[in-house]
Amino acid sequence: MAQQSITLIGGGLVGALLAQQLARRGFAVDVYEKRPDPRRAGFIGGRSINLALAERGLQALRTAGLAADVLQRAVMMRGRMVHTRDGRSGLQRYGVDDSEVIWSVSRAALNMLLLDAAETSGVRFHFGQSLVAADFDARRIRLADEQGKERSIDAGVLIGADGAGSALRAAMHAYAPLGERIEPLGHAYKELEIPPAGTLPASLLGESGGHDQFALEPHALHIWPRGGYMCIALPNTEGSFTVTLFLPGQGPHPSFATLPDTAAAQAFFREDFPDLLPLIPDFAQDYDSHPVGTLSTLYLDRWHLDGRALLIGDAAHAIVPFHGQGMNCGFEDTVVLAALLAESPEDTAEVFAEFQRIRQPNANAIAAMALENYIEMRDSVADPHYLAKRELGALLAEQAPGHFMARYRMVTFTHLPYAYAFERGRAQDQLLQQLLRGSTDAGSVDLDAAVTALKATLPPLPSLR
Ligand code: FAD
Repeated sequence: MAQQSITLIGGGLVGALLAQQLARRGFAVDVYEKRPDPRRAGFIGGRSINLALAERGLQALRTAGLAADVLQRAVMMRGRMVHTRDGRSGLQRYGVDDSEVIWSVSRAALNMLLLDAAETSGVRFHFGQSLVAADFDARRIRLADEQGKERSIDAGVLIGADGAGSALRAAMHAYAPLGERIEPLGHAYKELEIPPAGTLPASLLGESGGHDQFALEPHALHIWPRGGYMCIALPNTEGSFTVTLFLPGQGPHPSFATLPDTAAAQAFFREDFPDLLPLIPDFAQDYDSHPVGTLSTLYLDRWHLDGRALLIGDAAHAIVPFHGQGMNCGFEDTVVLAALLAESPEDTAEVFAEFQRIRQPNANAIAAMALENYIEMRDSVADPHYLAKRELGALLAEQAPGHFMARYRMVTFTHLPYAYAFERGRAQDQLLQQLLRGSTDAGSVDLDAAVTALKATLPPLPSLR
């Protein structure tokens, strides 16, 4: 039987992983990627420098046989290290032990590893080739090279993994509307860098003199919550941290509009992030030269054009980054799609419809949870009502593990569908609120009665096996 041929647009994180899985299953895969080959030309970023990899993404990498290689290049993060305005900090662990952690990975290193793996599996990459148009009736696509020179080629079944600004999506939408809705968050981000400890004056590193080569605790995702805005920092293997400032794009101070230059931004940091500013020696240069990235959620009614074209990853469901799940969700997509296609390679219309049926409710759920998590991260992690709910939730999870699991844990450390985690999380949250009755003291709740109420209100959690 002739190999089914797949034309993938975009060789980013999701495109490269999907390509590898399809090639391993015998599909003939060609990937057209706008950027030059990052392994030769250097990685051209755009989105975040590093990302949090969690269990869902890791599971997809295990399926692809790549998890161990990726983890070798990752830094373990055990929890959130919350830095308050008065300079105190404390670790809120994500899970019960080191079996429940997340991993900070470099986007560039991960993308290059995935490209290598895909190429080894037989994928043909065509770098510096940007999709500009698609003729779905003639099954041809038009590509532009880096000089803007265009050519048309025959295409196989088309899959768009070309990210939030997907050109394939635009072509599909022009051919038959997809019901596209893009909701801007109104908040934007900018990345800054804390260099390895060795390059900072010893006086800044506290009594410990830093943490080996790291200026801060390396095994944590650092958060400086400040109410309507925040900074976070994720560790990199070589000892640096990538700091991301999240702020409203426009509007009253503080917003990116009110911090147009480094002097204003430095004064703002001195006031709001006084312990962080000294750790960023190139603040002025970083602030001046790094772009302000915008954030939106993308919703589509349809992800596919019968059996001819499908969108996956951010191209189908870009979300805000506050649950650290965009890539993880896209990686989960790849496993589902590769399995469905392997089962019925000829019936792509049916496969694409089924893929959307399975994944769309989950994409919508993680989109909603990611939006909620922004408020939690920037605000609630320092809020006594939130902390009381968290503490009572932890007690219930200990007393009745078959009935209570924190939503964050379901999303981050299990494979329970996002849609389930969303619904269950909502029901659990309502119960916690009822049990606490506005109190900020979890210890004041009668735990036995709370467990009885929990078991009477909610069915047992599904098995995690
Ligand atoms: P992309 O990574 O955007 O890749 C798209 C690829 O398509 C690129 O290589 C691009 O060059 C190529 N392309 C674009 N247009 C064309 C064209 N016309 N022709 C050919 N090729 C094209 N997710 C997490 O799981 N954890 C995190 O901690 C996390 N942190 C984030 C922080 C920030 C600030 C942001 C913005 C996002 C974060 N995400 C995180 C989300 C994550 O970045 C995305 O979900 C992920 O990159 C999606 O992968 P993708 O391959 O679908 O799209």
